[in-house]
Amino acid sequence: MTFNSTAFKQQFPLFSHAENAQLVYLDNAATTQRPQCVIDAMSDFYSRYNANTHRSSHRLARAATSMVEMVRGQAADFLNARAHDEIIFTRGATEALNLLSQSLAKNLRPGDQIVLSAAEHHANLVPWQMVANQYQLELRFLPDVQGEPQLDKLPQLLNEKTKVVALSAASNALGFRIAVEWIKPLLPDACQLVVDASQRLAHDVVDVQAWDCDFLVGSAHKFYGPTGIGLLYGRAESLAKLPPWQGGGEMISRVTLESSEYAAAPHRFEAGTSSLAAIAGLGAALTFLQSQNREAMATYESHLNRYLHSELTRLTQTLPIKLLTSHNNNVGIAALVCRPESSLSVSDIADWLDQHDIAVRVGHHCAQPLMDSLGQAGSLRVSLAAYNNRDDVDALIHALERLPFESREIPASSTEGGEWLGDDLSSVSLDELANQPSWQKRYRQLTRWANLLQPKPEIRNETNRVHGCESEVWMVHQQQGDRHCFAIDTDSRVIQGLSVLLLVLLDNRTAEEIRSVDVNQTFVELGLEKYLSESRSNGFRALLDQMLGYLS
Ligand code: PMP
Repeated sequence: MTFNSTAFKQQFPLFSHAENAQLVYLDNAATTQRPQCVIDAMSDFYSRYNANTHRSSHRLARAATSMVEMVRGQAADFLNARAHDEIIFTRGATEALNLLSQSLAKNLRPGDQIVLSAAEHHANLVPWQMVANQYQLELRFLPDVQGEPQLDKLPQLLNEKTKVVALSAASNALGFRIAVEWIKPLLPDACQLVVDASQRLAHDVVDVQAWDCDFLVGSAHKFYGPTGIGLLYGRAESLAKLPPWQGGGEMISRVTLESSEYAAAPHRFEAGTSSLAAIAGLGAALTFLQSQNREAMATYESHLNRYLHSELTRLTQTLPIKLLTSHNNNVGIAALVCRPESSLSVSDIADWLDQHDIAVRVGHHCAQPLMDSLGQAGSLRVSLAAYNNRDDVDALIHALERLPFESREIPASSTEGGEWLGDDLSSVSLDELANQPSWQKRYRQLTRWANLLQPKPEIRNETNRVHGCESEVWMVHQQQGDRHCFAIDTDSRVIQGLSVLLLVLLDNRTAEEIRSVDVNQTFVELGLEKYLSESRSNGFRALLDQMLGYLS
């Protein structure tokens, strides 16, 4: 049996929707699409047997309860857990990691240590930071090479105080897999292994017994299931020792006014009503995935990923971009950054791709420490799923080849005698933008305006950074008499254009004049509110707020 990506893709109704005829969806690490069977299972739950589980003794409640318990069994099989009761339903990987960190920490002592890596998704970092503060625990981090944690260095970090090692089985930002099966034999007896498998479950057959992990988490929406539902696997003995996280209905065996006795796992960890329709959808997603030839599917994905990486590598020879990833042992993620001489930022590239209906993602991908360690503010991430094909990669490459890069020389830093760096935009008029007949033409005008903003390496430092923008933006202010002057630099072409707009409206004016300009109204009138992406609008507002902040 082989894997047929075309037949697989036909199961996903989103791709046959007329408005998505040209869509190239390459944002699968954020969320995958759902096959029809998942959508049907959710709708079937609501239209045929919607009821709350356990509490009611009627036919519908029994049907809902048996569905939930059946899906629990399917999930146990999916992960090769030893027993159904080792599966807990959560809202997603994030909730599972909050549950684990809070519950595990209650059994720890001040000074106990938790080992993580700098490549973790914030969901596997922030909850541990919170409990570390709350319970005086110490967080330790595996050394890495170019962001990739070095498992062979793990023994050096371990001692009798190490109580938890929590690592992602694959990076959501760079796609590399780690050899999870190596970890447990290295750990002291009292140390529990938590695996964040969020980025593995769509791509690999995961076996919790082979990995010998104590806990494992994942979100269904990353493996073709619904949002709002996730899996937490816990080894039976580990779960037995784990105190509950949230209190409420369903998680107790007896309650008095003073105290409660808690139910056994898994119900001890499932307070309240779960996302029942989502559990039904998860069951369908598991059946769907299990009915594929997973080995052939993985081979298909790996060949496609190799093709993606070789094509992107080819582009790096001619375009000012750099590839941070390699296809080796990678779940299907390519990460690109722009070289310093590039006239475009990764956000500009994502906008360009969006205009060609190619969906990718830019930013720090909830892995800010990883980006920091790579010296990058963010990257452009292309992430594959089994319904992608070479045509998708070709469309991406073709669009990238046509990117309107211009050579942009970044002058060496040279302000003699504190010379004011502001751009002279006195000849630019708002009408040049306002008179454009369509949004597309206005957008083009904005990118033409971008050329008017000169690079200012002198101001590119932390003090001048404008926070709240997805792109890197720096601003300085100077009062000349009663006039306020601003100088802006940014790596993003669209933000350069928007900065010119702001400078045309506000630069070299008195505080009174500035306050009388209704920038928000202009923003709406120009259609910017409607057509600009949310992150660009936020960037614009962050710039505006900073400018207005100088007046007070
Ligand atoms: N861990 C990893 C590795 C992830 O990629 C993600 C989602 N991007 C999460 C955790 C959090 O998943 P969710 O938002 O579904 O809870």
